[in-house]
Amino acid sequence: MEHSLSIYNTLTRKKELFVPLHEPHVGMYVCGPTVYGDAHLGHARPAITFDLLFRYLKHLGYKVRYVRNITDVGHLEHDADAGEDKIAKKARLEQLEPMEVVQYYLTRYHKAMDALNVLPPSIEPHASGHIIEQIALVNEIISNGYAYESEGSVYFDVEKYNRAHTYGILSGRHIDDMMNNSRELEGQDEKRNPVDFALWKNAQPEHIMHWPSPWSEGFPGWHCECTAMGRKYLGRQFDIHGGGMDLIFPHHECEIAQAVASQGEDMVRYWVHNNMITINGQKMGKSLGNFITLDEFFDGSHAMLTQPYPAMSIRFFILQAHYRSTVDFSNEALQASEKGLSRLMEAYGHLGRLPASEVSSVDIKDIRSRCYEAMNDDLNSPVVISCLFEAVRTINSVRDGKASLSAGDLKELQEVFRLFLFDILGMSDAGGGGDGRLEAFGKAVDLLLSIRRQVKANKDWATSDRIRNELTALGFEIKDTRDGTEWKY
Ligand SMILES: [Zn+2]
Repeated sequence: MEHSLSIYNTLTRKKELFVPLHEPHVGMYVCGPTVYGDAHLGHARPAITFDLLFRYLKHLGYKVRYVRNITDVGHLEHDADAGEDKIAKKARLEQLEPMEVVQYYLTRYHKAMDALNVLPPSIEPHASGHIIEQIALVNEIISNGYAYESEGSVYFDVEKYNRAHTYGILSGRHIDDMMNNSRELEGQDEKRNPVDFALWKNAQPEHIMHWPSPWSEGFPGWHCECTAMGRKYLGRQFDIHGGGMDLIFPHHECEIAQAVASQGEDMVRYWVHNNMITINGQKMGKSLGNFITLDEFFDGSHAMLTQPYPAMSIRFFILQAHYRSTVDFSNEALQASEKGLSRLMEAYGHLGRLPASEVSSVDIKDIRSRCYEAMNDDLNSPVVISCLFEAVRTINSVRDGKASLSAGDLKELQEVFRLFLFDILGMSDAGGGGDGRLEAFGKAVDLLLSIRRQVKANKDWATSDRIRNELTALGFEIKDTRDGTEWKY
């Protein structure tokens, strides 16, 4: 595959040229949601970030197997080894079967992802459907001497592992600091060392989700599922593992330890992490209670929102920042994104209807290569968007008669918009989109206005006014100028 895509690898802390293990195949695993509540803006970010990568890799010609898991068991409160299972707690509070909670929120998650135009992954495995694979993983780690049983639970022996390998290789944390900073929590006395993490937990009698195992009737530790399912669907080594930066420690650090302890080497070539969404400088998260759900954005029902926001404005808002930068939520920022996006869409709508000139007065030749360059530079979506905005200025100059574009250049701009705005950035528009509907819609309005000019010339004022009034009622702004009629929606 000929390209020069570089991505930032959290493990090596530098941008690296992307070379897959088995071209043209690419294996990508991304940590999906724990489905015990509605998806919020913080969930939209990894989904959109890895959707961008998924779309771009496919555009480059790779056959991508994209696995995004569903955590439906084993994720305990505060991401710790103690406390209640997040799904089980919700089920207890709502008096539902845990799998009813999972199904309900999963359906709603999929609906929100569809609205954001996030493509479905190739496989979406559930942790609870892979208990056998997780038990097998724990057994391998025990037989290699890196885990021990205690009171029916199994813990990973971090100190022993760290003697032969490096625990902290991904996060840059040092085991001594971790030991000094770990708090005494419930169940800690089962562990040899407070930094050890659970591979299997013995279920308390009141715990409603449990499975038989060689050690106890219980459930897997949170980190096991991704190692077990990644290996099952993508092999002992695969290309990309992604997720939010908040997962680097402990989740992904533990995944690396589990892989090395079970099979002797890490499974992942490129560790890719998106940054967080913040509200007033603080991470937005369900456990922090400062989140706004995607549905609340779509209908404007949250007290912090001054208006509803269409899903595409949210997607655009997220893509206007590089995925490794933080994005701070504010109504003003979202409104600015909404305006920016409609400027892009309007300009695209005009593109198919601009008059072609003999020659172009502006050079647009390098826009395509600059968009590719930005994407290849660690998925720099804000730079792609700024290139498209430059094109908007050119399009508007042509409309104002201050610049000209040849038929070939007009076609090139259309193709660049279709490719980057719609196919790669994944924007869509209910009334149009990448398939030319927006253009057809614009041409239909032009046709109505040209009929209006005709009837006006025939002094049929009643029909002319009717066309104008009805278009205005539909939300069009019609302006008669010296050279004809201008309109916008
Ligand atoms: Zn995971």
